[in-house]
Amino acid sequence: MANATCDGCGRGVTVAGSTANIWTFGEDDGSEGTALTLELEDGSSHTLCFPCIERLPDHPTAEDVEALEEVEVEASAPDER
Ligand SMILES: [Zn+2]
Repeated sequence: MANATCDGCGRGVTVAGSTANIWTFGEDDGSEGTALTLELEDGSSHTLCFPCIERLPDHPTAEDVEALEEVEVEASAPDER
């Protein structure tokens, strides 16, 4: 585990040592402290929290990661069901 910053939303996150935690994330919705380092097909790697990872398309590019920031700003007052 290591402290880092999400490349998408800029939130402080904790990078898990393995991908095992992805399966328990849904059971602990209040946790914002878990992220994964995602390697993209273009060879770059990005540290992303799970909410940001879920927003990425199936084959994300660095541009998609950058777009996460804008989405986060627009969705600053989410009250949808
Ligand atoms: Zn994020």
